[in-house]
Amino acid sequence: MTEAFRVCSTCRTPIAYGAKYFRCSVSTCNQKRTALYFCSVPCWDAHVPDARHRDAWAEEVVAPSGPSPETPAVRKIVGAKPAETAAAAPSAEDDADILVVVSRFKKYVADRSGMNTSAGVMPLLSKHLRALADRAIREAEANGRKTVLDRDVEEAVRRFGRAP
Ligand SMILES: [Zn+2]
Ligand SMILES: [Zn+2]
Repeated sequence: MTEAFRVCSTCRTPIAYGAKYFRCSVSTCNQKRTALYFCSVPCWDAHVPDARHRDAWAEEVVAPSGPSPETPAVRKIVGAKPAETAAAAPSAEDDADILVVVSRFKKYVADRSGMNTSAGVMPLLSKHLRALADRAIREAEANGRKTVLDRDVEEAVRRFGRAP
């Protein structure tokens, strides 16, 4: 392998074809012409103060296997195959509807496990929160209330594990 896929935007280490690398979750760091590539999470970390991101995280990506133009294997792909789009890959619209405090969620996971959290987790969590909220709303309605109470959420959680 003579040619590398890219070099790390921070430390200039070559990223080989087929190797794992990290990219920034922030879209401006992934614009086609100015995209950033990182060999490691610390290298990604290093660009965050300069970029002044508020909520950002590193995404693990696998570089294409060779120089041929193919789509890189990304865990979370926006605008994937239509069949998958609805279920897994969040659309831009879903992205705007993140209901969790991303930085706190990521901190919780990191504090407990030292793990990173992939960007694809947030839309999924938000989807579950919406489903939970919808159930809680129906509970409140069924009880003739115009306020969703904690007990509605508890009831929604109880039913959440069962068939929808
Ligand atoms: Zn690096
Ligand atoms: Zn960035």
